[in-house]
Amino acid sequence: MNDSITPKVDSLLRIMTIEEKVGQMNLYNGFWDATGPVPEGGDAKTKYEHLRKGWVGGMLNVRGVKNVRGVQRIAVEESRLGIPLIIGFDVIHGYKTISPIPLAEAASWDLEAIEQSARISAVEASASGINWTFAPMVDISRDPRWGRVMEGAGEDPFLGSKIAQARVKGFQGEDLSNPNTIAACAKHFAAYGFAEAGREYNTVDMSNAKLLNTVLPPFKAAADSGVRTFMNSFNDLNGIPVSGSKFLQRDILKGNWNFNGFVVSDWASINEIIYWGHAKNKKEAALIASKAGSDMDMEGHVYIQELAELVKSGEVDESIIDEAAGRILRVKFELGLFDDPYKYCNEDREKNLIGQKSHHEAVLDMAKKSIVLLKNENNILPLKKEGQKIALIGPLANDKNSPLGSWRLASEDYSAVSILEGMNAYTKNELSFAKGIELFKGQPSFRNEVEINTDNESGIENAITIAKDADVVVMVLGEHGFQSGEARSRTKLNLPGLQQKLLEAVYNVNKNIVLVLQNGRPLTIEWAAEHIPAIVEGWQLGSQTGNAIAQVLYGDYNPSGKLPMTFPRNVGQIPIYYNHKSTGRATNREGNVFWSHYIDQENTPLFPFGHGLSYTTFKYTNLKVDDSGYIKNGTIEISVDITNSGKRKGKEVVQLYIRDKVASVVRPVKELKGFELVELDINESRTISFHLTENELGFYNNDGAYIIEPGNFEVFVGGSSSDELKSEFSLK
Ligand code: BGC
Repeated sequence: MNDSITPKVDSLLRIMTIEEKVGQMNLYNGFWDATGPVPEGGDAKTKYEHLRKGWVGGMLNVRGVKNVRGVQRIAVEESRLGIPLIIGFDVIHGYKTISPIPLAEAASWDLEAIEQSARISAVEASASGINWTFAPMVDISRDPRWGRVMEGAGEDPFLGSKIAQARVKGFQGEDLSNPNTIAACAKHFAAYGFAEAGREYNTVDMSNAKLLNTVLPPFKAAADSGVRTFMNSFNDLNGIPVSGSKFLQRDILKGNWNFNGFVVSDWASINEIIYWGHAKNKKEAALIASKAGSDMDMEGHVYIQELAELVKSGEVDESIIDEAAGRILRVKFELGLFDDPYKYCNEDREKNLIGQKSHHEAVLDMAKKSIVLLKNENNILPLKKEGQKIALIGPLANDKNSPLGSWRLASEDYSAVSILEGMNAYTKNELSFAKGIELFKGQPSFRNEVEINTDNESGIENAITIAKDADVVVMVLGEHGFQSGEARSRTKLNLPGLQQKLLEAVYNVNKNIVLVLQNGRPLTIEWAAEHIPAIVEGWQLGSQTGNAIAQVLYGDYNPSGKLPMTFPRNVGQIPIYYNHKSTGRATNREGNVFWSHYIDQENTPLFPFGHGLSYTTFKYTNLKVDDSGYIKNGTIEISVDITNSGKRKGKEVVQLYIRDKVASVVRPVKELKGFELVELDINESRTISFHLTENELGFYNNDGAYIIEPGNFEVFVGGSSSDELKSEFSLK
């Protein structure tokens, strides 16, 4: 904590009226063109007047130097105390130069690249006047029906924590007062990823042990890396709407974790306490949320309407307002906004930094690292660069919008390199293209759902014709960028519309298919996994999608991504995740699957967490576990030899899992505890060592206490969660 700031905050608070302090707690959505004439009525007029009175602490969705300067000028030059605004925006995966969706980036397991990607987002957003992003989303989820899994890092708390740290570091940089860094926001606090049945905004009921062991670690990691803000969530947790949760916000976040930044509500989530049936009216919602530790009201208008009165009537103690406003002012000081409120409003930076070449190179690199080779039989991949006739088929193959994925609010005028464009640029092959089908009956958009085409099959004939004539067919199928993301829950996770029909029709005439998936979540592609020889998980890879996919398909880049989330065989298996518990009836005495199963489907996933192939192969040998040092210095040393046993240079993510065999609270069958990304030449071997400390081997029990129990642990090391060498150690 930079404590030269505390006296500045305190002296400012001393001269502020209650209304001005409450004003800091008020975050408004962007409104009229702030550079134009004063609005004459409605919402815009109210906001304008509040700005002039110093009743607004920040704004979101105002972007572009001209607009930001416009609103900042009113706050700084027309309000009594001239306190600058904080300017927030959903910079989720890139600002104008769009990087892969966060779930895809997580598949790289490459923390440096992920940090760099967030850094680039920060450089571009800050050049556009923004100084605060509503990212990273660090919600763990085990339910791909939930559309927002595209925005997170998948199902695992260990991987999720590392990625949360990398993203916070990337956004905030070394020093928040630099004009190319922005404050980050760990969201959505907490348990939003466990919305019942994967239905957006639904209720969450979970044990404290699950909350502490599975949901909170990435939030804690973000807090530990100095994230300046948290956002709460739309769900309730065990009957308490989260914006009104004292337990989460005051006891855990500001109490146990000592967090000294501020908590912003989610969009109008303080009002929603009323709709949950937990507050009678706005006044009560404001009272509950402020006491619970929600510092800032995002576009709910509840605090600004109710809080000052509540303080005057003695129902809310003024110290609560001082604390919240103080936290917000602190972050503004840290951003350097009091030194220069216009430091983010630099037209030269805006002109020169956004969309620069080096940013495109970096997002291309990130995109390649995010690709996961799910299956590759008969070495159908890589494709040959010459002398092969390729048919490119699918409604997403020439799409320049979908690869940008959901949440790219600032880049509506930007488009991605399509896979058709990328393929054409990288080959001398004869390439024919057919869409096969249309995915929709209209134009999809971020806000509106459109009707899916389920009856117009007229393009399939043409696809069959070009497929018949090709050596290899590359099919690009999956979800459009707007079919995942917020408010995009699905009950079916198949290929939407007529895509399965198209796939089977093509397969009937040519079995040499490479399926490139473009999607924001795990899909149930059981038929494809059985029949199609090669499957490439291509997610939504952002601005450089087509180039990244082409370089992987043609072998200029050897894929190394690993799934950050389990792929189910069908929706009925959900939630399915690798770090589940055993059951008393998991296996019979011979170790075979016993009663805990389905009568119509096996228990295993289609593709497990951590899975991903390469164009080369890796061999793991010589797993050694040394627990002798544990007594001396509390460390268990685990080492393994890895050899590139194939025919080309490649990268592999070496994964370490443990199982606590007997514990006072049942532990998962496997938990990720370490990983390392290594690159090896042909025949090259390396010894990889992991060091586990006692602290990494404990867990939270049902009373919320972190305990470390002596006993035996199994160790698994390998290239996925289901493919590994095994050993043991004990804690004495
Ligand atoms: C989302 C948040 C987002 C906010 C502002 C909400 O609907 O849940 O994640 O930051 O809108 O756009």
